Amino acid sequence: METVLEIKDLIISFDGFRAVNGVTTSVQKGEVRFFIGPNGAGKTTLLDAICGRVHPQHGSIIFNGDKNIMHYPEHKLVNIGIGRKFQVPSVFTSLSVYENMEVSVVKKRGIAASLFSEITEAQQEKINKVLTLVDLNNCAGKKAADLSHGQKQWLEIAMLLVQDLQLILLDEPVAGMGRRETTKTGELLRKIAQHCTVIVVEHDMEFVREFASKVTVMHEGHILDEGSVEQVQKNPKVIDVYLGR
Ligand code: ADP
Repeated sequence: METVLEIKDLIISFDGFRAVNGVTTSVQKGEVRFFIGPNGAGKTTLLDAICGRVHPQHGSIIFNGDKNIMHYPEHKLVNIGIGRKFQVPSVFTSLSVYENMEVSVVKKRGIAASLFSEITEAQQEKINKVLTLVDLNNCAGKKAADLSHGQKQWLEIAMLLVQDLQLILLDEPVAGMGRRETTKTGELLRKIAQHCTVIVVEHDMEFVREFASKVTVMHEGHILDEGSVEQVQKNPKVIDVYLGR
């Protein structure tokens, strides 16, 4: 199997406090990997490091087998294929679904280029393909403001997919969704994994149980256990700090 991300002995401190304290793990191509654990475990800080928002003091983050991306700035990481979606949807509400996708497809080339660029036929095709994948093809002309909460989240995921990323980081993608939208999001993640690798930080354990093939359990900045949900659920340490609460 091909390794997309290899994290070794990562340490991230804030004023001497180690939010991430010696994390080592690897993620394979096409995985949907869930990071779980109680509040303050270091999950968000780890995502911040992978997408270039914070820079670790120690360790390495190897992307695609050769590049140590640990000190890359955020914009450079998007260009090499790593994108992040935050918990709160941040689509352009006054634009239509399709226009949001247009903004995203040209954004990768930089603001100056995007101001004057036309959307090519190939890009239009790509936008339509991705909108079909996330089941928003029937809403292409709709204002993003008029979408449901779930649809806004899917639009934002679509805006990442259209940028041809290899690794997508999602922060609690089902927060605020009902069960039906949550299940639909899980099915969408499975479909996305056929095109790229996905890392998800998640608190909704019902969702994790249903859709995770592999989870990494974090606690106090380090990895407590890693494996299938069934496997980690049996670990007494995991039960103690998280699942058993
Ligand atoms: P999780 O996502 O698992 O809830 P976080 O990564 O958000 O955990 O936080 C891990 C720990 O690091 C927490 O104790 C948090 O208060 C601390 N932390 C996170 N970011 C900062 C920061 N910018 N400055 C100081 N402490 C931080």
